[in-house]
Amino acid sequence: EAKKRGGNAVCWYSEKLDEGLGYKVALRTQIQEALAKKQFELFYQPIMTSTGQISGAEALIRWHHPTKGYVSPADFIPIAERTGQIIQISEWVLRQACQDLSELKRYGINTVSVNFSPIQFYRDDFISKTKSVLEEFNIKPGEITVEITENVLVNDTQRIAELLQHLRELGLDVAIDDFGSGFASLRYLNVLPVNKLKIDRSFIENIDHNRHNAAITGGILNMVEHLGIQTVAEGVETENEYRYLVEHGCPLMQGFLFCKPKPLGELLVWAERQQSLENES
Ligand code: C2E
Ligand code: MG
Ligand code: MG
Ligand code: MG
Repeated sequence: EAKKRGGNAVCWYSEKLDEGLGYKVALRTQIQEALAKKQFELFYQPIMTSTGQISGAEALIRWHHPTKGYVSPADFIPIAERTGQIIQISEWVLRQACQDLSELKRYGINTVSVNFSPIQFYRDDFISKTKSVLEEFNIKPGEITVEITENVLVNDTQRIAELLQHLRELGLDVAIDDFGSGFASLRYLNVLPVNKLKIDRSFIENIDHNRHNAAITGGILNMVEHLGIQTVAEGVETENEYRYLVEHGCPLMQGFLFCKPKPLGELLVWAERQQSLENES
């Protein structure tokens, strides 16, 4: 179960969180408590250049539940989206990531990616709230990337394009996450002000011998090169996948091959060791 969801060495809560009578009420209360008692935590996974340097890190939320251990975002983000609590959670994520960035920068990691929920885009104060957090932490252009899944882009494209433009004007980079997994198309790359694209990990799996995946990923890489969009391959797990991607010009990669998502402190230890290995060679 943990593996399937791209989990970590930690033990995931594997029962269904939403079982039982009145589960939604119970969960709403528990999420409220989690916010109040600071049970949310950001893990970080490095994003690597094709030459093996650390280019940045993605913040991935975990719920350190008092009795259930680490709960996966896949288990509570959808519920928080339904209850509207995602707004508070997202605000916490952005502030925490901005705060952690100063620590990461001391280890040469100068950009952090955060995942935004589609729900946020429908709030009137979305841009002004985001702006005030960026100002509070004195964030400079290019330091924070906002990741949005491609499904967000399908409805109301014009409106979303305007909001993304506002985010860009605040100095944020904007990435389309899980590209290719849903119904978005290449057309969006022309009309939306995005400057990064993350190829869904289903296309990276076995890319070295799956011709279908190789063709799709190759096509994306070729096209995007001329649009000034940076591409990240997600879910790189094997040496062979890595080598294939390097040979085919993929500039950035992320996956368990390099490093699993880790608590900030552990990531910094990993980064330091990585950098000293690099200096030796
Ligand atoms: P995502 O943004 O596409 O994040 C990548 C997911 O793939 C992460 O799962 C990561 O642990 C996993 N992964 C990374 N490398 C590999 C690999 O080599 N193999 C496999 N099998 N998996 C890999 P995670 O952390 O469980 O997050 C799942 C999803 O939950 C994220 O997908 C994102 O959509 C959402 N999420 C996570 N944190 C947040 C957050 O702070 N806010 C919001 N709104 N959503 C979040
Ligand atoms: Mg993401
Ligand atoms: Mg993704
Ligand atoms: Mg995903």
